[in-house]
Amino acid sequence: MGGRNPIEDLADLRHEFGEHGGVNMSVEASSTFTVIDPETMPDLFQGRAGPDKGCYLYGRHFNPTVFNLGRQMAALAGTDAAYCTASGMGAISAVMLCLCNAGDEIVASNAVYGGSFALLRDFLPAKCGIRTRFVDITDIDAVRDAITDKTRFVFTESIANPTLRLADIPRLSEVTRKHNIPLVVDNTFSPLILSPAVLGADIVVHSITKFISGASDVIAGAICGSEEFIGALMDLHMGPLMLLGPTMDPNVAASVSLRIPHLPLRMAAHSERALAIATRLEALGLNVCYPGLESHPDFALFDELHCSEYGYGGIFTLDLGDIETANALMSCLQNEQRFGYLAVSLGYFDTLMSCSGSSTSSEMSEEDQVVAGISAGLVRVSIGYTGTLEQRWTQLEAALRKTGVIGD
Ligand code: PLP
Repeated sequence: MGGRNPIEDLADLRHEFGEHGGVNMSVEASSTFTVIDPETMPDLFQGRAGPDKGCYLYGRHFNPTVFNLGRQMAALAGTDAAYCTASGMGAISAVMLCLCNAGDEIVASNAVYGGSFALLRDFLPAKCGIRTRFVDITDIDAVRDAITDKTRFVFTESIANPTLRLADIPRLSEVTRKHNIPLVVDNTFSPLILSPAVLGADIVVHSITKFISGASDVIAGAICGSEEFIGALMDLHMGPLMLLGPTMDPNVAASVSLRIPHLPLRMAAHSERALAIATRLEALGLNVCYPGLESHPDFALFDELHCSEYGYGGIFTLDLGDIETANALMSCLQNEQRFGYLAVSLGYFDTLMSCSGSSTSSEMSEEDQVVAGISAGLVRVSIGYTGTLEQRWTQLEAALRKTGVIGD
């Protein structure tokens, strides 16, 4: 089941040609759309006519170019529908607000991207009266015990940022199905590698900003789920996408849609390079965490759930013990060796590295970080595929020596 290769569904997707027969679709830059017949207007407002019938109303509602990228994202995720947003956080917050009302509860993994953590721990309780119970998502009994009659959904990342622990989506979905609540999975780290919806998730969110974009040039997100759920996000009275407006720009949608066809090549390249480097680092006796290493606690589960053609992902972590050593190494890697960039984010064609505890997980208290397994010297590395493996390995080895992480 986990081995599904979404590339076949993408290939089956009807190709959208451009207005003048271009091999690429045209960009629909209009923010508003005409109706020939005035009677169509109330139909549009009352949901009797919509994009499925080729009728568009207003760009914040549905736009043809963004809608088309949504079809590609749905094919990628294996869901009936999808719609794209201005950012990954726009997607995550819209899902949460759609599923919960004031007084409701969420059960969430205690190891998630710092922005999602802050949204759950700080923003939602203060602004909306929605409370989250955080759990170790790898402990299925703890998840089960945390669900109450107020819980509206369970939220996890498929591969946790930055701990790289894998959520057992099939087992989690057994629990959520018993309670008749959806399982929401953020699959930002593993497009194509894992297909959460096929494994049992009900709603899948992505930060397109990362691997799907691949060029660190756009901020974008997507929500993949049932037609009914995507429709609810657009409801004129209660739909968070419609009313809060984290709408994707059609130019961004057109640009991203041209990158989906080579996403499979890129994911395989990231994974191949990351596995090679993580293996060599481990052989040097360093504290490296990568789901493709047998030493990873979820290695066997990953093998069961992933589509092997895309490997184990482009991200590993290296625990250097303390922040000073981590900073010295990253600085040498960027400024002397040109191995990669000291920058947050991931999924870029070049390597990006950052110390999670003091950057993308800094929204978490020190205590929360300890509970989640994030140490001060943990460097998250998103491996790029530029250069050759041997060039990059020479640079990395030199930096490890220069900073005393390994001996001469
Ligand atoms: N989900 C994960 C796992 C992330 O790492 C990030 C950003 O780093 C986000 C969501 C947020 O995405 P965006 O920056 O596109 O809003």
